[in-house]
Amino acid sequence: MALHKIFRAVIMGPPGSGKGTVSARITKTFGLKHLSSGDILRANINAKTELGLLMKSCIDQGQLVPDDVMSRLILSDLRALDQSSWLLDGFPRTVSQADALDKAYSVDTVINLNVPFQTIKQRLTSRWTHLPSGRVYNVDFNPPKVPGLDDVTGEPLVQRDDDTPETVTRRLKAYETQTDDCKNVFPYRSKGVLQSFSGTETNKIWPHIEAFLHSKLSSVDEKCEDL
Ligand code: AMP
Repeated sequence: MALHKIFRAVIMGPPGSGKGTVSARITKTFGLKHLSSGDILRANINAKTELGLLMKSCIDQGQLVPDDVMSRLILSDLRALDQSSWLLDGFPRTVSQADALDKAYSVDTVINLNVPFQTIKQRLTSRWTHLPSGRVYNVDFNPPKVPGLDDVTGEPLVQRDDDTPETVTRRLKAYETQTDDCKNVFPYRSKGVLQSFSGTETNKIWPHIEAFLHSKLSSVDEKCEDL
């Protein structure tokens, strides 16, 4: 779908709620640029940048990276995408981050994934990742064609250090206390741009998200053409 107006979207939800998979489908279907805070941090860790080395222990322990570091990192990457439509994944995660984003950009829609924590625990501990691209597989319902290898590059898949059962529990706790509780005070609900999708299977949630975005993007584009 070719867009006339710049469209800015955020996807939120607990770790393992399917944000990565849904984001990949959104970017493929609607051509938005995808920016994932977790992928950016992992790329810094892989490249052994100063920031990556400082943040690695935080991430490995399932704790959130400090707000000021995270907001500076994401806002500077977004500046390079000023003329593009984008989908932000994993940021904001706290009220302070949401405020920082709100000061810089007006967001057109926020997609919120509601998935029960029990489903997520099961999912995350059977998840395998292709680190360079961020592509994710699940040995139960989305296995790679060849076990242990990425479908596109044939490179090895790894289990993320923070996908162990103990760390998953800690990450979900961090989400519950720092992100979920404050969703009500995020600027988005009051602005009417927050749209929630609930379920236990990404494949069943996806058609609703796709239909929602089709209608949302068409209306944004029509308004633009009327100007
Ligand atoms: P994710 O891949 O989105 O689950 O992120 C992996 C880890 O990166 C998280 O458990 C946090 O330690 C860190 N992280 C990612 N995004 C943020 C954020 N917006 N604020 C703070 N920490 C983050």
